[in-house]
Amino acid sequence: MPGRPRSVLLRLEVRPAGRRCTCAHNTAHVMLKGDLRFVVRDRGPAAGEKGYCAACASEMLVKAKAELDALEAALQPFH
Ligand SMILES: [Zn+2]
Repeated sequence: MPGRPRSVLLRLEVRPAGRRCTCAHNTAHVMLKGDLRFVVRDRGPAAGEKGYCAACASEMLVKAKAELDALEAALQPFH
């Protein structure tokens, strides 16, 4: 039964840090309790998760959008 298209993205969310922690991309980036964190869940049953600071998250999302746009364009070569 066709439903909504499935999401191909990893589980992504933004939520406040529960404690002081460092960015998974650059450990020099420190987030304090309450700072917003971009959380990426790993795939699989024993999935952990990684948290990124807002600056790194922003770069990652820009890159992800470009990658999605490139895939979409590749599917429509004559447009
Ligand atoms: Zn960072």
